[in-house]
Amino acid sequence: MNIPEEEMQNMGPATRSIHCGEGVDAETKAIRRPIVLANSFELNDDADTLSESFLWENTHAYNYPRSRHPNARYLEERLAGMENGEDCVVFASGVAAISGTFFSLLSAGDHIISSRICYIGIHGLLNEHLAKRFGVEVSLVDTWDADNVQAALRPNTKVIHIETPANPTTCISDIEAIARIAKRACVILSVDSTFAGVVTQDPLALGADLVMHSLTKYVNGHGDGLGGSVTGRQDLITRIRDAASVHLGATINPFNAWLIMRSAATLPLRMKQHCENGMHIARFLEAHPKVSFVRYPGLKSHSQHELAKKQMNGFGGMMNIGLKGESENYFRFLKNLKLVTHAVCLGHAESLVQYYPQEGDRPEIGVLNYPEDIGEGFLRLSVGLEDAEDIVADLRQALDHVALPSEDT
Ligand SMILES: *Cc1c(COP(=O)(O)O)cnc(C)c1O
Repeated sequence: MNIPEEEMQNMGPATRSIHCGEGVDAETKAIRRPIVLANSFELNDDADTLSESFLWENTHAYNYPRSRHPNARYLEERLAGMENGEDCVVFASGVAAISGTFFSLLSAGDHIISSRICYIGIHGLLNEHLAKRFGVEVSLVDTWDADNVQAALRPNTKVIHIETPANPTTCISDIEAIARIAKRACVILSVDSTFAGVVTQDPLALGADLVMHSLTKYVNGHGDGLGGSVTGRQDLITRIRDAASVHLGATINPFNAWLIMRSAATLPLRMKQHCENGMHIARFLEAHPKVSFVRYPGLKSHSQHELAKKQMNGFGGMMNIGLKGESENYFRFLKNLKLVTHAVCLGHAESLVQYYPQEGDRPEIGVLNYPEDIGEGFLRLSVGLEDAEDIVADLRQALDHVALPSEDT
């Protein structure tokens, strides 16, 4: 196997997800990358070449694995190839990738605009830490309307960060429109595309400078490893690698990098099935008399379905479900599920569901963040890869335990 990089970039997404970053081991001729656990690498010993061991540009130069190690690099090559990015840097988790990016690109006195509805850990990072402790100005805006982003710009804005589809509400932001705003203002646009699982959305092609993923979710997809990535413009990736890998230290371990790289090979195939199952389940739920709403970007009833259709080529497996009646119904439903597991996380082979109460013991994930028709709360369902009819049957029997007020029946 020896495909030149330029030729690989013309190949389809499935081919790239299998072949990018792969190679034959020079010593053993193994056709799979080995797991390299060494925490130290031999340096060049002559005066002319010593510095090469430390050059960021020399992508296969290793010295100490916190800055870079072979399994991280193979995974970076795979993801850069899959996303058609100039380069990629991977981290120990999705949050590490995003915080590493913010700490690398923002200084005290700078301003960042972020989607108000975004992953809860990022919300806290922006509000509790960057804003309150590090002197970064933070505007959380409803980025589903690009005009709000334009209106929030300040002379010191350095980064616009959007999450689309947003976790947990599946709210969509117009990447192309916001990229135009960012370009005009000379501001970096970063897109957390985790819900789109790499293959159903291409933020870089739509004009984003950086795209990030919690690899923990769809890319790994098997519920057994943590990782995060940032892909995009070479100058930015080099800055992030330099500042974050060396000084923040949230390095992915070689085994997780290897696991995620192995999983990435089947991602296009898996995403197809997540999309197909997602649509099937969303339609079933929307027609169910005990369901008050289904929010799924693939349904016409999603307020941003047209935008989702424009910028995505599949709608994945993430959706919100509201149940009619009192909030106790959510617990009746969860207790009676047999196949679908009540757990955090998403994008796994198995279907998972999580309850977002209207006002729970963590007020930050209550009404404050999600005022749109939240009712008594909602369920975030991550539709897995089981046979769709088995998922439907489990949801149907659990919905049988949901009690409707008499006027609804
Ligand atoms: C889970 C998630 C993250 C955080 O990723 P971890 O790997 O859990 O650190 C960031 N963004 C989105 C959209 C997520 O769903």
